[in-house]
Amino acid sequence: MKKRILFYSLTLIVLSGCNSHNTTAEGSAGNDTLFNAFKERFMDAYWQANPSSAIYIGYRKYYDTLKIPDSAAFAGDVKFAKDYTDTLHTFNYDGLSDNNKIDYKILENQFASTAWYVDTFKQQQWDPSGYNLGGECYEIISRNFAPLNERLKILSKHLQHADAYYSAALNQIKQPTKEHTDLAIKQNEGALGVFDAGLTDSIKASSLTQAEKDTLQARVALTVSSIKNYVAGLTKILTDKSQPFRDFRIGKELFTQKFKYDLVTDITATDLFNKAEAAKNYYHAESYKLADQLWVKYCGTTAKPTDSLLLIKTVIDKIALHHATPQHLLDTAKKQVHDLEHFIVAKDLFNYDTTSALEVRIMPAFAAGVTLASASGTPVYSKKETTFYNVADLTHQPAAQSESSLREYNDYTLQILSIHEAMPGHCLQSVYSSNKSPDIIQAVFGNGATVEGWAVYCEKMMLDNGWANNSPEMWLMFYKWSLRECCNVIVDYGIQCLNYSKDDVVKLLKNEAFQEDAQIEEKYHRATVSQVQLCSYFSGATDILALREAYKAEQGSTYTLKHFHEKFLSYGAAPVKFIRSLMLKK
Ligand code: ZN
Ligand code: ZN
Repeated sequence: MKKRILFYSLTLIVLSGCNSHNTTAEGSAGNDTLFNAFKERFMDAYWQANPSSAIYIGYRKYYDTLKIPDSAAFAGDVKFAKDYTDTLHTFNYDGLSDNNKIDYKILENQFASTAWYVDTFKQQQWDPSGYNLGGECYEIISRNFAPLNERLKILSKHLQHADAYYSAALNQIKQPTKEHTDLAIKQNEGALGVFDAGLTDSIKASSLTQAEKDTLQARVALTVSSIKNYVAGLTKILTDKSQPFRDFRIGKELFTQKFKYDLVTDITATDLFNKAEAAKNYYHAESYKLADQLWVKYCGTTAKPTDSLLLIKTVIDKIALHHATPQHLLDTAKKQVHDLEHFIVAKDLFNYDTTSALEVRIMPAFAAGVTLASASGTPVYSKKETTFYNVADLTHQPAAQSESSLREYNDYTLQILSIHEAMPGHCLQSVYSSNKSPDIIQAVFGNGATVEGWAVYCEKMMLDNGWANNSPEMWLMFYKWSLRECCNVIVDYGIQCLNYSKDDVVKLLKNEAFQEDAQIEEKYHRATVSQVQLCSYFSGATDILALREAYKAEQGSTYTLKHFHEKFLSYGAAPVKFIRSLMLKK
């Protein structure tokens, strides 16, 4: 879940029906040469127009610029997208290589969705959490892409107009939702931590000239006061009773459009919701068999409840008591990642490149408060940089709250989380898309459903290959985990399109997905500040598994799982349906 920060720029792809391509006189080889040159020109222009996104992606050329988010900038984004659509359409689609055909579609969809986000969805007006300099500055300070002095000089230039940035941001805000305003305040307060005494110490310890140090320190102070002004402005909006908030529910019409732009799948939102309901019933049936079998081991001679969901929950609750302490959570996750790395090599599941550094660390403060764990990928343009598996620090939480989180992420589910976030889920995928993917467009404009679908796909794939030795406890916890993934769809669609109340969500997640209170709170909160994203896990995994089965049938006796994995990951995070069109001969 690192993608919140990259929200506007990187997750927006649609399958559009544009078939009216102008044809040019180029032969097909020449067409590809021109198209490759076009991609390179476009990417550079894109990073110049989106310097903050460039920082996350590791494209260093424009690090020192900061885009001021005023109305002209948003209109400029739309014009940029429309101009590049026109250029794109001068290419003969049918004459392109398969790889460039995917890029063509990805770009076409990217441009269409940029215009939709600004002109129709208007998130820049009602979501104040889209404005935050903490994340990108943290990247400049903490990524070891250049010597400290050089990074501090970049930071100094990047921050020189921080005041203009935050006042333009406040100007954009029109009738925000209460939920996004709360989030923006919390995350911007968190961003203050990036500019605290630790940074001052780094500046002092550097060998910049005194004048350079003074300038940078003054700009840091300007940034801090600008963030505080922004937070004060938002707090004023929150307390102004005369202005109604916008409803955080976007409604079925916008949801359906966003679903199409973000997920790029043939299934409709309503069909996915129905599939998720069916999956929920299946997981209940499988869980019941295992819980029934484990009853005596965990509950002894206590009479079994007649309610099957209650029986499942009782056994799950007993198993969940086995968990790490807040003090040992990080070490436990570290050991799991180490063991998982050994496992995928021993089982020959990937050509794993052990020189790619994966570090398990405490989650940075500006990103904290949304999930227990997350992955921060290797920036696309930086080869061989560290990929991070971030684990929340629970040691400062009230005991009841951390206990609840740790039961949710107990000895079994924490392993599934480590598979999902780190190995071979998000972190491994990120290593592949930055170090091995042949195509920059596919690596940069990653599809959220492919990314989340991959991580979810890995969970069951690892258990199927013998991770945890077929332990019934692990499978029971896996079904519980999978209930969460299908319930993500039910909650998201339910809240946004069917007007589910908080009470509906709590009942569903507590009684039918067996979740802990802290987890339910977290999920409800997420479902109020995001839309469609919660559907990406189930949607992507379903599409990937279907592709694997079709690929296996086609390859026959030459099929290996490792070959499927290597080939699939070589496409970066392009939408699964585009990957499918290339991987299958048909
Ligand atoms: Zn080892
Ligand atoms: Zn994930």
